[in-house]
Amino acid sequence: ARAARSGQFVVVIDAGHGGKDPGAIGPTGIYEKDVVLQISKKLSNLINKQRGMRAIMTRSSDKFIDLRERIHKASDQNANLFISVHANANRNRGVKGSSVYILSQSGASSEAARFIAARENAHFGKLGNSHFRNKNRMIRSVLLDLSKSSTLDRSYSLAKNVLGRMGKVNVLQRSGVESANFVVLKSLYIPSMLVEIAHISHPAEEKKLSQQDYQTKMAKAIFQGVKDYYVQHTPKAPRYTGKTTRYIVKAGDTLSEVSERYNIPMSRLKKVNNLNSAEIRVGQKLKIPIL
Ligand SMILES: [Zn+2]
Repeated sequence: ARAARSGQFVVVIDAGHGGKDPGAIGPTGIYEKDVVLQISKKLSNLINKQRGMRAIMTRSSDKFIDLRERIHKASDQNANLFISVHANANRNRGVKGSSVYILSQSGASSEAARFIAARENAHFGKLGNSHFRNKNRMIRSVLLDLSKSSTLDRSYSLAKNVLGRMGKVNVLQRSGVESANFVVLKSLYIPSMLVEIAHISHPAEEKKLSQQDYQTKMAKAIFQGVKDYYVQHTPKAPRYTGKTTRYIVKAGDTLSEVSERYNIPMSRLKKVNNLNSAEIRVGQKLKIPIL
């Protein structure tokens, strides 16, 4: 995989639909485009708080973004991961659960996956085709061929981690990662997945999707899955420079949070700061080792 120019791990978060395209609409009239944007913003905040990671959103307002723009965000920023965030819908309002999809080039993993891909692709059809006709077509297909199998392996690993974390928040529609021919994932040669948070067509899940605490739980689940993936695929052991930066403890901080945020083990933080326990107090100045 290519390293981001900045040396950071860049995650593109693609809130599905937007503007004239509402996506699916729930029984009480809640729009998919709105809840997926809210969850995407929460996910983006979590990623941006994590040292060494940076989030880029394909849209941060209720705006229609065409496929080309969504893909260019990922290519231009030399991103490491691409996550498209959606809510599922089914004509049968009893169908519920979360799922995670990766691109399949050889057909959908199930009839349901094929149906969902068709729905999510509906607004991309025309744009998708023109995208593939453009002059970058050859370059893109070469890149896809070169990296296809390892990218799909990594996409699967990413999706599996995220699915596992989401399964702790909501029932899963199926136990495994699904695959289908999603246009938005098609031109990407970085690990990518499409997340269906829950079914907006299911009355109880529609309600949950619009709730702040549920949105936060889901954003955290995806974030944890991304972190799991990041740890698994970033084999470099940390090398400390011997220098430190300063962090002033704020209300509500715990040492384990500071440890997570800066990716510094608790034991290391304690040692550098001569702490005997994990207790910290507001206003305390902590030394944070620089990697
Ligand atoms: Zn969607």
